[in-house]
Amino acid sequence: MDIGTLQDRAVDLRRMFHRVPEVGFTEFITTYEIYIVLKEMDFTLSIGGEAISREHRYGVPDQETIEASRHRASEYGVPEEFLEKMADGTTGLVAVLDTGRPGPHIAMRSDIDGLPIMEAEDAPHAPAAGGYRSLHEGEMHACGHDGHISIGLAVAAYINQNQDQLSGRFTLIFQPAEEGGRGARSIVEKGWLDDVDYFMSGHLGINEHEAGTISATTDQFLASTKLDVSFKGKSAHSGVEPNEGKNALLAAASASLHLHSIARHRDGATRVNVGTLNAGSGRNVVADHSELKMETRGETNALNDYMLSEAERILKASALLYDVEYGTEFMGNAIGAECDEEWMDIIKTANRAGGNGIKVMDVMPLKASEDVTYMIDHVQKNEGLATFMIFASPLAAGHHHPSFDFDEQAIRTAVSVYTSIILHLANIHLEKENTSYE
Ligand SMILES: [Zn+2]
Ligand SMILES: [Zn+2]
Repeated sequence: MDIGTLQDRAVDLRRMFHRVPEVGFTEFITTYEIYIVLKEMDFTLSIGGEAISREHRYGVPDQETIEASRHRASEYGVPEEFLEKMADGTTGLVAVLDTGRPGPHIAMRSDIDGLPIMEAEDAPHAPAAGGYRSLHEGEMHACGHDGHISIGLAVAAYINQNQDQLSGRFTLIFQPAEEGGRGARSIVEKGWLDDVDYFMSGHLGINEHEAGTISATTDQFLASTKLDVSFKGKSAHSGVEPNEGKNALLAAASASLHLHSIARHRDGATRVNVGTLNAGSGRNVVADHSELKMETRGETNALNDYMLSEAERILKASALLYDVEYGTEFMGNAIGAECDEEWMDIIKTANRAGGNGIKVMDVMPLKASEDVTYMIDHVQKNEGLATFMIFASPLAAGHHHPSFDFDEQAIRTAVSVYTSIILHLANIHLEKENTSYE
């Protein structure tokens, strides 16, 4: 298969995965379909609980949600013994191929989860017009992770096909639950990245340059913390004895307003958002419970810590104000990180050699959070070089929007870029090896 065929195949696969989006830690069908493609190759596959550390997952959905998705996967045709490998939502897969020749350990990460979003049905939305809209109502690949999976699979096919000309070892990570910063640590803690020399990852879209433009590195990763908060008060008849109640609804409402008015920090960008708020049980009852889902972000870990400690103070004060109890549950996070500058040269040189005409910029800003930062940080602590690239594309609507869509040409670009990097890095070592024998 030449690169053109691999690229075509990646686009077809992207459309297949687009039809079956699954939210974090319910990627049963997705993991199975990845396995179906990879089982034809020479990789050693670790599936589900063999690939991720169960106890280092964050924000695992409730048992009911996991069961419903598992049932759906079973109806789809995922065999029972395969589903058992992903017990309790331990989804995802890691593929390793060792060429047996000395050389670099290269790792690549593709995130595989969808979002809880109802996909647009109107004709201008390409997946709707093209017949590959989500079959799972209320779930959607609205961030481009369907593309990331298919790029990872094309890269796998390339490595498998060219393994006789490559040296070293390859670890391809298909990570569950990126959204909300919930899955990356479960991969890191399993040790897959402990001795990686080169770690590559990236994202489609983000920047709306035309497809064919990429950045070798990314900056402005926002550190972020996700919290579920609950307030517990006391219910009472709102007509007969309102004075006996303790109002959890007002505590949550007050907390929401004050969270959004945390003073901004002079040292850099910060964010806070209360995304959902639920409370109470009836019109004439003082609400005895309320729950809110919130997040903080900061341009650095210190700035996120500042937002988080201010948020905790406000939650505590709001509970005190209405004489109710409160509790917080940690649901996920991402840390700040910096890519290694060495990648700018590596990627430019690799692409020149590949002659693929791709425009490589040194850096683009992310201005969002990505739990890949856990992986970048871990690789760097172990003396490897890590990057997160951006494969730009005009977007029909922004990330996480029901009409989100990208130019599939960006998938082709990414396949070219990853494969040219592999050829560049793994061949260098082969040549060195050869010369040392002369
Ligand atoms: Zn996203
Ligand atoms: Zn994403």
